[in-house]
Parts: sequence; structure tokens; C-alpha cells
Amino acid sequence: MTSAFRIAALGAMIIMPGSCNANVPNKPVAKPAITAPKPAPKPVAAPLSIGAFKLNRAPIQGSISLGTVPPGTKRLVVSGQDVSFAPDGRFVVGFGRDHDATSVITAFLDDGRVVTERLAVPKRAWKIENLKTVRRFGQPDAEFQARRPGELAQINAARRTEVTSDGWRQRLIWPAKGRISGLFGSQRIYAGEPGAPHSGVDVAGPIGAPVVSPADGVVTLAATTPFTLEGYLLIIDHGMGLDSTFLHLSKIHVKVGDMVRQGQLVAAIGNTGRTSGPHLHWGMKWNQERIDPQPLAGPMGL
Ligand SMILES: [Zn+2]
Repeated sequence: MTSAFRIAALGAMIIMPGSCNANVPNKPVAKPAITAPKPAPKPVAAPLSIGAFKLNRAPIQGSISLGTVPPGTKRLVVSGQDVSFAPDGRFVVGFGRDHDATSVITAFLDDGRVVTERLAVPKRAWKIENLKTVRRFGQPDAEFQARRPGELAQINAARRTEVTSDGWRQRLIWPAKGRISGLFGSQRIYAGEPGAPHSGVDVAGPIGAPVVSPADGVVTLAATTPFTLEGYLLIIDHGMGLDSTFLHLSKIHVKVGDMVRQGQLVAAIGNTGRTSGPHLHWGMKWNQERIDPQPLAGPMGL
């Protein structure tokens, strides 16, 4: 088997009906590198010290690290952005799919000292499919155009909601178990024109299968009618800028403002919105950075 053929075969195994096309809009798409698919890397579990900062795992694209600020920190800035930290000094830092090779982290201390470190953020090889066909965009219909601005406003308002939760401290659990039918970061290129990278991990499952919360959190969006692309959509904020988004649900059992616990039944798998089969799409964000839930949740243990 040639390597090109093997890659094509691998792609065929991973992209199956049930992969979703809906991507909650994000910043403009970067031109991808053409790479072979690789399995999601295992997070490096060993804690490390970077100068006066401590991280629970090494930074990598599409992941988060939990850190500890130096004693006496009064302000924390990561790549020019103020980042919250808990009274015990713990914080979350995330690195999006296309994050730069380095991240600059700065602590301003009570005694006037400023501590700055550069974090190396290694690249990941995302699953890229090159298609010869030109992408065909259907004309958005009048109903879509009428409804979409209101849906985006709801998503943006939910993401701006500040919540108090310690869910970010927990080791994530899988919200549903089943075959992985779509990988975070995967991307199709249509005759050289890149489509939007897949913004989450897809878990295939039957309509009605339970969805539980992967960590403690507060519900910031629970769609009462299906959104045009996302269908029944649920967002749970785990605190410190980290949230989980679930798409295509058939049922949502919680409402906005509810505090949920890790493992609590919150929804059911469905086939609503733009999807080609029943599955759960689980996306995560840290502030504006899209995060891959798969390595954080670890092996599914089916
Ligand atoms: Zn998906």
C-alpha cells in the first residue's frame, strides 16, 4: 500500500456519515499546512516549571494547561491578554488550533517585579483532506438569513457571561461514549480552497442517548428551539474562560443559569441542525481559542 493510499484509507475510516458540518463562526480561517493525519497526541502529564510559573502539562496547539502563578502575583497577562487566576494562584491557559509557535506569559508582582517567560507551543498535524471538487455553497434561504443574526447574538451573549465554577480544575470525562466520527481540527480543502476546520470532536450515537456534563459548570445557553446550523445547542461554562458546547441535541434537560455537576445528565444525542447523522458534537473554548476536548478527556474506555 502506498503511503498516499494509506492516508486516503485512513481518511475514509475517520470521515463517515455522522460528521457534522456546523461550525460556530470564529476568527478567519488560516491557510493550513498539508499534512498526514495523526492520532490526537496524549497530553504530557508531568508537571513542569517554566521560570517561576508551573504548568500541569506542556503547551501544544489545541490544548489547555493548568498553571500556577508566582507568589505575589497581582496581574497575569498571556500574549497581551489579561487572564484571571484563582486565589490559590491557579489559572487556565489555552492554545488554539493555529496558535503561534510561542506564547508570552507575564506576571506583575505586588513588589513591582515583572516576571516574563516564553512558552513553546508545538504544532500539531491536523487531518487534512484534499478534494478536487469545488465547494458548492447553497443559496442561504430567507428563513436562514432572518434567523441567523439572532442565533449568533445568543451565542455571543452566552460566551460573554461570567460564571463562577471550579469545573476547570477537574479532569474531564466524556459526555457520551461511542465511535469517534469526527476529529477536532480536521479540514477539507476544496480545489485549493480551505473549508473551516472542524471545531470539536464528534461522537456517533443513537438519538436519545444520554449526554452528561464533562465537568462542573453553569449553563449559559440552552436553546429552546433548534438553531439553523447547531440544532438544539447547549453551552456549559466551567469557569476561568473554559466552556463546552454541545450541538445537534434531541433534548436538553437543563436551563440557563443551572449549576451542573460533572457526570450529571444534561441532554440527549440528536440529529438536529446541519448534520448528516445522529451524533454529539462537543466543542470547547478557552476565551477565543478553540480547544480539542479529546486528549483532555483521555481514552474513552468503551
Ligand atoms: Zn462536529
